[in-house]
Amino acid sequence: MRLNVKNLNFAYEDKEVIRDLSFEVKDGEFISLLGPSGCGKSTLLNVLAGILKPESGEILIDGEAVEGICGKFAYMPQDDLLFPWRTILDNVCLFGEIHRRKAGMEAEARRQMERFGLAGCEDKYPGELSGGMRQRAAFLRTTLCEAGIYLLDEPFGALDVITRSDMQDWLRDLCSNLKKTILLVTHDTDEAIYLSDRILILGPCGEGIRGEFTVDEPVRTRDWLYGQGELRSKIHKIIQGKPEGKK
Ligand code: ADP
Ligand code: MG
Repeated sequence: MRLNVKNLNFAYEDKEVIRDLSFEVKDGEFISLLGPSGCGKSTLLNVLAGILKPESGEILIDGEAVEGICGKFAYMPQDDLLFPWRTILDNVCLFGEIHRRKAGMEAEARRQMERFGLAGCEDKYPGELSGGMRQRAAFLRTTLCEAGIYLLDEPFGALDVITRSDMQDWLRDLCSNLKKTILLVTHDTDEAIYLSDRILILGPCGEGIRGEFTVDEPVRTRDWLYGQGELRSKIHKIIQGKPEGKK
């Protein structure tokens, strides 16, 4: 699915957060959004997901305008938590329960447990799992929505460095199979370089996109990532406000 955001504006009461923002995400493209804390990344995902209403502007999916919660986005919010009193399977099937199609979803969830590294965890509670496993359970819940566009808000932000790099490898492999359109919010430049087809860099609140990089490498390895010093420093300069223009 293709996403077009056109001239989007959003403010909290008198605080302008998104001003005249436009960008496109192509079908199957993996985009990372990088930007300083408080610049409006989570707000943007909330607006796209239909949880917050924009003041003006358009959100188009495959050329058609959408409004409110439309079912085309699978949203994994920054503070996505599993309910501690529900088993992993019941947590993962939460949306199915809400939408009254739990039976079909439960069968699908059981099939997917292994792919998500959760085989045997169906009847466990979140407190019995590691941070990485809980994160994968939250991911599985997101992917079971069957939506075409994934909105992921700093999904690995709370994990330690080793678990985080394992999860990045896992997401990279998963994405090459899923072929979904993905918008990932991160503050980790290496994560953005490692995973994305394109990186959009946001300036402080209201400024919008101040830089953009395309990452062409078809096969990514950690060694390749370590060699990306030049790209990393270009990105950092733009984040710090020393634009070098587009690549
Ligand atoms: P980011 O995800 O990039 O760190 P946010 O989208 O969370 O940024 O926040 C953008 C700005 O909007 C920040 O200045 C934040 O303080 C403000 N903000 C976020 N949520 C609210 C809210 N519910 N009410 C008022 N201001 C908010
Ligand atoms: Mg945020």
